[in-house]
Amino acid sequence: MLDPMTLIQSIGPIVGKATDIAKTLKNRELLAVVTELQQKLLELQQTLHEVLQERDRLRTQVAEWQRLDQIAEDLEFQPENGFYVRKSESDQGSVIPYCPLCWDDKRKLIHLIVGLTPGTYCCPADGSSYWTEQLRRSME
Ligand SMILES: [Zn+2]
Repeated sequence: MLDPMTLIQSIGPIVGKATDIAKTLKNRELLAVVTELQQKLLELQQTLHEVLQERDRLRTQVAEWQRLDQIAEDLEFQPENGFYVRKSESDQGSVIPYCPLCWDDKRKLIHLIVGLTPGTYCCPADGSSYWTEQLRRSME
């Protein structure tokens, strides 16, 4: 498919030739029509520019949604611990806890940091804290 902006820009020289012809023929009516055509072409070019900017913005937004969908599919909530882990990381033997508040509310994937007591975690973004089921059982 031909780039639409290139296509519109290729019309400019043709309109220029028509202008030259109208001047050579000293045809004021034709010159007025060609001038109007040239103005409409400029408006079309400007509108196309805006449409292409919007298209690029939407493409970026779709890519971001796809990225978030991939993360959402990979996340697994562990109700016993109260946080998320990523299945892809768990499958590789690496269990990294993620903040459920940040993900559920803002779609931000924030690593929980290990607290002073083993089995406790804290979100550096919102300060929420989590105790693993193992820790809670050891305190009973
Ligand atoms: Zn958080």
